[in-house]
Amino acid sequence: MANDKLKRRKNKLVKPPWRDLLADEDLLQLAIRDPLTGLLNRRAFDEHLRWIWKQGKDQPFPVGLLVIDIDHFKAVNDSYGHVVGDRVLKECAALAKASVRESDVVCRYYGGDELVVILPLADETETRRIAERMLAMFRDAVLCRDTYELRATISIGASTMIAGPGHSAETFLIQADRALYRAKQTGRNKLCFAGEGPDRDDPPAGQGASPAPAGMANPRRVVLVVDDEPSLCVLFRRMLTRAGFAVLDAQTTADALAIAERERGMIDVALVDLHLGNEDGLDLLKKLRGVDESTIGIVITGQATLENAVASLQQGAYDFVQKPVAPAQLAAVLERATKYRRLVLENKRYQSHLEDMVREKNTALSRALDQVTDSYQFTLEAMADMLDTREKKTGAHSKRVSRMAVVLARRMGASLEEIEHIATGALLHDIGKVGIPDSILLKTGPLTDDEREIMKTHPHLGYNIIKAGPGLEPASEIVLAHQERFDGTGYPRGLKGEEICLGARIFAVIDTYDAIRSERPYSKGRSAQEALAEIVRFSGTQFDPAVVEALKSCQAEIEDVGGWSAP
Ligand code: GH3
Ligand code: MG
Repeated sequence: MANDKLKRRKNKLVKPPWRDLLADEDLLQLAIRDPLTGLLNRRAFDEHLRWIWKQGKDQPFPVGLLVIDIDHFKAVNDSYGHVVGDRVLKECAALAKASVRESDVVCRYYGGDELVVILPLADETETRRIAERMLAMFRDAVLCRDTYELRATISIGASTMIAGPGHSAETFLIQADRALYRAKQTGRNKLCFAGEGPDRDDPPAGQGASPAPAGMANPRRVVLVVDDEPSLCVLFRRMLTRAGFAVLDAQTTADALAIAERERGMIDVALVDLHLGNEDGLDLLKKLRGVDESTIGIVITGQATLENAVASLQQGAYDFVQKPVAPAQLAAVLERATKYRRLVLENKRYQSHLEDMVREKNTALSRALDQVTDSYQFTLEAMADMLDTREKKTGAHSKRVSRMAVVLARRMGASLEEIEHIATGALLHDIGKVGIPDSILLKTGPLTDDEREIMKTHPHLGYNIIKAGPGLEPASEIVLAHQERFDGTGYPRGLKGEEICLGARIFAVIDTYDAIRSERPYSKGRSAQEALAEIVRFSGTQFDPAVVEALKSCQAEIEDVGGWSAP
């Protein structure tokens, strides 16, 4: 029952509305058909769409729309000539017609290689199904079978809408057209649905100001005509559609603003009458730009005075046109305006692209900086290792004391920054020994007084080596002070108590602990208890008592990072 009702409704919708207009069938066909393909022409399409919308006035229903464009059709003309091109077009038209339902209305709307299909009572699923079927039929088809055996693919832009009040038939076409543009831009031979992607002028994020692919037309430009005279709206619509623009129109400022809100981002140019009954066209232009500042405003008026022109331009209008205007002149003005808008948008995109680039560069820079820091750290460690290997025949001492110093510094509540300096200072504490001759550094017997004096220069040597390094100043202070003693009897400066920086006081304890615990060629490593007892014994003389206390409370952890705890 419900099915019957649907069928009746469908049949009613298929019945061409123009049949009543002309009694003579031949004349009628001439008026509504495209001579090459035999498909309905734009006039028939517009009429049909309007009629469908009228049908939906009381009982709205879904309608699908497909805008189809043959891919790379110019190449067919260029390679095989226009006669073959015409034939391909004809066969494509027949193929399109064969792939839709009988109730669907196929038109050659713009006169080129584009077809438009109205799918009455088709919701999104049905529209998609029909479009996919058409794509598949084109992929399988061989055209000019008896001669060249050509193949052609198509791109489809689709849109669905509820025919009825509150929905605009013009928007419908614009949406499908934008979706077609997206299908072309993203590879052709495919279907794109309106609302599924960025159907507006803005390219996807990150795409920047890249131009449309070579050989690809721009999406149809959209003009909003606002004139309180209905017949002028119709006239402009005709004029501009013929010139290839998609046209929306309104007779009041309220309607114009409602359209602008609905089509935000889509309207290239607003062609606004200076006097809209009691309302002010310039005021409307301002409001329109408030909705979408990229829309270019053009004022049109029958009273083209200098004052009006100046006022228009002062209010941000891009151009000022006097009525009546010749179609070619108006088209040229609009063309210029849309080009200008495109430039402005492109410029904007370029700027945001630049910002993206700067952001990317900054990330790359900080990554490079991290790498430099890493490799710098690596160099420092390698230097410390070389030194250990030369003096102690093991490459681990400096790194080990550095790790242990970190544990102790953390226990003493040092800040993260301090801890970092203490780690580096401990790692490089003996770096100055590179300047001590082997005969002294590697001497097995006791040093003479002179030799001991030379040996004692190593904190200063080390300090001089690293103090100029980036961020190494605090660590260089530790290097300089690492042989000081808490009671002031150390060297090179004989500093006392807290005159010695915390890092050096911590290091002194750790270095001794490590020396007691480590095995040397001439002595076996002693136990943790012995090490602690020895350090406690010198608390207050050689070592800072506070550091010794801290050591007691984290000895287990020190043992752990020193690698001495039992496995
Ligand atoms: P795209 O994939 O971007 O659609 O590339 P295209 O080469 O198909 O380019 P576009 O659709 O912009 O161009 C349509 C071409 O169709 C331009 C013109 O050479 C050709 N054309 C338009 N109308 C006719 C016609 O009636 N007969 C013939 N033979 N060619 C036509
Ligand atoms: Mg094409």
